[in-house]
This record gives sequence, C-alpha cells and structure tokens, in this order.
Amino acid sequence: MTPLVRSREEYGREEDARLAPYAQRSAASRGRLHPEPEHAYRTAFQRDRDRIVHSRAFRRLEYKTQVFVHHEGDHYRNRLTHTLEGSQIGRTIARALRANEDLAEAIALAHDLGHTPFGHAGERVLDELLCDEGGFDHNRQTLRIVDLLEDRYPDFRGLNLTAETREGILKHGAFPHPVALPALFPSPSLEAQIADAADEIAYLNHDLDDGLRSGLLAPAQLDAVALWREARATAEARAPRAPEPVLRAQAVRALIDGLVTDWVTASAGRLAQAAPPSADGVRRAPGRLGGYSPDVERRRRELKDFLYRNLYHHPDVLRMTEEAERVIGALFRAYRADPRRLPEHVRARFAEDGEARAIADYVAGMTDRFARAEARRLLEVRV
Ligand code: MG
Repeated sequence: MTPLVRSREEYGREEDARLAPYAQRSAASRGRLHPEPEHAYRTAFQRDRDRIVHSRAFRRLEYKTQVFVHHEGDHYRNRLTHTLEGSQIGRTIARALRANEDLAEAIALAHDLGHTPFGHAGERVLDELLCDEGGFDHNRQTLRIVDLLEDRYPDFRGLNLTAETREGILKHGAFPHPVALPALFPSPSLEAQIADAADEIAYLNHDLDDGLRSGLLAPAQLDAVALWREARATAEARAPRAPEPVLRAQAVRALIDGLVTDWVTASAGRLAQAAPPSADGVRRAPGRLGGYSPDVERRRRELKDFLYRNLYHHPDVLRMTEEAERVIGALFRAYRADPRRLPEHVRARFAEDGEARAIADYVAGMTDRFARAEARRLLEVRV
C-alpha cells in the first residue's frame, strides 16, 4: 500500500523518474557546510527555499526599491514582488525543461537578498566606500546574508544552505569570504542558469510595465523596440478595442510568454545536442547551455539597451539615485565616525567581521524607509 505521507526518499525516486539526466537531484547534493540530519519529507532544496522565505532579509525585500521608490505609488514593483515574479517564471522554465524546480526556486527567491536600499545606487556607494576592504557587490552580499548574517540557528551562523543553492547565488568569480565558497565550475548548474534568465525576464517586463504606467516611458518611444512592437501587435490583434491598461497588460503577457518559450525551446535544443549525462555535465560545459535563440538574443539585448538608456538613466530615476547615494554615504560615514550610534548587535561583530564590513552589512540590510528614518534621526538630512 502506498504510504499516506510521501517521504523524502520517495520524493527522490520521483525526481529520478521525472527529471532530465542533467537536472540536479536533491539526493546528489554536495551538502551543507554544517552537516544536518535530513528532513522526513522535504528535500534539501525545499528546505533551502523555506529557510530563505522565513529569513528576515526576505521580509525586508518588501521595502526595498526595484526602480521606483515605494512612496511613489502602491502598484509599482518592489524587490519582493520582483523576486516572486522571477521565481514563478523560474519554476515554469524548470518544469518545462525537466530541471529541478525546487532548486531553481530557492536560487530565485534568494537572488536579491543582498541588494542595498535604493537599488543599484546604494551598491555603487558602498563599493566606493569599501574600496580598501574588498569592495561591495550585491551577489556577494547575498552570500554573506545566507552564510553569516541571518541568526536563527543555535549551532551556526547563517541559514546553512546547500552547496547548490549557494553556487546559484554566487554567480561568478571567487572573492574573499569567511567560509568556504562552493566549488566553481566553468558554468553554473542548469537551475542557476534558469534562475538568472527568469530574473531578467521578470525585470525587463515589469520595469517596462512600470515605466509606461509612470509615464517615464512614452508608448511611442517603444515603437523602436522589435520585441515590444510584436507583443503589442499580438495584444491588439486579440482585443483591438480593449482599453489601454488591458492592452499594456496583454502586451507584457505576450512578451513574457515569448521570451520564456524561446529560452525553453532554444535551451532544450542545445541540451539535446550536448547531451550532458549529469548535472555536473552542464557545469563542465565550456559555455552556458541555457539561453535564447540567436535572433531573440539580439532583440532581448535591444530591449535591455532601451531600458538602460530611457528608464534606468531617466532624469527622474537618476534624481532618486543621487538622493540614495547621499543617504547611504552619509549613514556609513556617520557610523564610522562614531560607532556608538550603532546598535549593540552590530558593534558586537566588529572583532570578527571588521568594523567597515560590519557597518556595510548593517547599512546594506536596511530597507529604504529605515535608511531614510536613520538619516533624518542621525544627520538631520532632509529626505
Ligand atoms: Mg533580481
């Protein structure tokens, strides 16, 4: 008789039957830095996903800027909704390619935890301020959060995630890190490549959507972008008399579907040709096997360049960026000048992590609104 509760071992056998040979099996994980007993019915990657969702850093994503600061309107994406859109797209791609959906999901849910308040502007300032201490990078910061900064467990710092989730977070390159980095291969796992692609598909589309909604992008400007023109034509052909907000939503819908479908189809073709016999076969491939067809790749680049030129470098967005740089820089310098301004738990880490790094961890972890409130309280900076 089939037992009522599906055990982890049973689930592992289902993975063997369901997943492609090049998918990462949960039972074949390289494990955690601190060995722990396995769970009765959740796989290692399902536990990673749950640990990420239960973390404080995950909850703070709600009040971190994607492109539009949160007080500009309730309908714009923030880092939390961006993360959820990206992880959902990642799960769709992973299922279609018979990759490990749980691993792709865990990586996608974690991928933005290390973002500073106010988006990339905050990251640039901290990188300059820490130039003598190894700099600052949001992917590396994500790894610091999951490896060191979350304090939920009695026996270790961090969330003690599996090597595969950490590999997906790490993305590229080795750097000084207080605990052992996951082994680096020429390419990331298929699941990490999926999480990367899903992140980009999510932000290209929702930034376009938010850009149009805000009026920072004018519909006529977008006529120059082939992918958008086609998506818009699809939407108009389907519902020619639909009101503008519905047409925009349908165009975004068509664009997401087009990008996902091309990524899945082109990747499936490359995977079939290379036929990696295992998950490590994908990692050892000299280049990424996941990706778009050459034609869509070219047009994706065109869309991305368009957004960089017209949205991310829009004067209104840059104004927010300058304000962010002012707030983050001033906070960091104020704490450096007088560490008594810091909460005790930050000062307690000076000895182990170094003063500058501990302060950067604290500032980077702030939400936009907390950073503003601190700047007002400490510095009488008007924000
Ligand atoms: Mg992202």
